[in-house]
Amino acid sequence: MQYESRLRYDSARIHAAAIYCSDGRLGEHFDDFLQQGLSLPRYDRVTLPGGPACLAGHPQAHLEEQGVVDELQFLVEVHKLKRVVLIAHSGCAFYGNRLELKEPRLELVQRADLVRAAAFVHRVTSLNAIEAYFARLEEGRVRFEAVEV
Ligand SMILES: [Zn+2]
Repeated sequence: MQYESRLRYDSARIHAAAIYCSDGRLGEHFDDFLQQGLSLPRYDRVTLPGGPACLAGHPQAHLEEQGVVDELQFLVEVHKLKRVVLIAHSGCAFYGNRLELKEPRLELVQRADLVRAAAFVHRVTSLNAIEAYFARLEEGRVRFEAVEV
């Protein structure tokens, strides 16, 4: 089997990366937000269950934390990364299952985690352009809200 993508390849880097949950039901929404909402075509993707949750100091995500730190440092060094976007989403299974949290506390922890994750990313990369968003699911729609970090 062979398949040729109809999308043209552009080799120019945008020097931005986004860290978000690998939940495939939201992949296109994250792309839409980053590419249209934040005007970041071709941004580098760092995805794993829970996304930035692994950078907030939970012992349950210690292994993932090391992996993502390595990946970010690689992107800074090789891709000349300048900007990092962190996104959490409502109803994230990582928080529900791995951290055993329920609403309304779940969202509060996610928001606090975005602040912690932003500080941590700054510490391990020395980057200053770090921003965070919460993707809210409501009646079949996904709304991205800025979170102060
Ligand atoms: Zn998730």
